[in-house]
Amino acid sequence: MSLDFKILKTRGDARRATMTLPHAAVETPVFMPVGTVASVKAVPQHLLEELDARIILGNTYHLYLRPGHELIRRMGGLHRFMSWPRALLTDSGGFQVFSLNALRKVTEEGVEFRSHLDGSKHFFSPEHSMDVQIALGSDIAMAFDECTEYPADYERARRSLDTTLRWAERSKRHFDAHKNERPWEQSVGGRGQGVEDQAACFVGLTPNLFGIVQGGMYKDLRRESAERLVEMDFPGYAIGGLSVGEPRELTREVIAETLPYLPADKPRYVMGVGYPDEIVEYASMGVDMMDCVLPTRAARHGLLFTSEGRLNIKNKKFAEDQGPPDPECSCMVCRRYTRAYLRHLMTAQEPLSAVLNTVHNLAFYLETMAKVRAGIIGG
Ligand SMILES: [Zn+2]
Repeated sequence: MSLDFKILKTRGDARRATMTLPHAAVETPVFMPVGTVASVKAVPQHLLEELDARIILGNTYHLYLRPGHELIRRMGGLHRFMSWPRALLTDSGGFQVFSLNALRKVTEEGVEFRSHLDGSKHFFSPEHSMDVQIALGSDIAMAFDECTEYPADYERARRSLDTTLRWAERSKRHFDAHKNERPWEQSVGGRGQGVEDQAACFVGLTPNLFGIVQGGMYKDLRRESAERLVEMDFPGYAIGGLSVGEPRELTREVIAETLPYLPADKPRYVMGVGYPDEIVEYASMGVDMMDCVLPTRAARHGLLFTSEGRLNIKNKKFAEDQGPPDPECSCMVCRRYTRAYLRHLMTAQEPLSAVLNTVHNLAFYLETMAKVRAGIIGG
């Protein structure tokens, strides 16, 4: 059985649902923190649990290069390797192959690229991307796609979409044939093994593969992409190829134009967005899942998201500010530390600065979505 998606209530286009995966019941709409190399940068897993993060992302491209998916398989899968008992979503590796590799070579078969770490040559096909994601043991894997760059003319977006659709079919065929080769059932012992205990109630649920809608910024291509993917019958659908440099209004437009072509009874995921007000807006339009490096990356640069707007903690005016980072926030950082102290840590380039800033930003994002969920239920 694939994931279980139960819609509890709708308000306008927004939906409040519970998505049950092999490793967690995820309340949606949800924001998913990004854990690129099996780590949400600067935040240990027990703090993510304390923040009530139920699902985080891993990046297939990075984990394939280092430490390698076969090593992670031998360690019992990514959940056990990183001691993360809750749900994991992995991307297909496509986005990084395209964004980090100027020298890539795309053929019908797949993509040849060079490692950004040591320049070594590698090849990703839809089948290989599925093998890597199955070895990692993701709750949700993503179809291998070509992320169309922006701007792209119509012909280019058309060709790219056709490739992505053929790759989606190959991804699905391979994933369905091999998805039950689950690493956590093939290994015993080792630290982190307790991470499986919490999953006991979800036994019987299989890993899931989502299709990704592409088509550049063209309405008819987006529609065709969505319709063809829906024919293939995935348990969930993502809208990809956004946040690639297009103006914000266009992002919103493409999402609004694509959502009606995705089935209402399955989760819809917009990849790589956004600012706090954007994720609220997209949730109100009927998006169920979102992810973005913004809260974690901005935190490491001293940018805090608060109920009073964005705050640059490096600013001199905070040098003797005894107030919490965000007076409205009840996270473990805001309950305990002052703006003056966070500014000092940042100025002194202390590693703790990244930890505290990131914990607050993630708390703010997760709390924002909790409020959206409460709003759908309660008005
Ligand atoms: Zn806080």
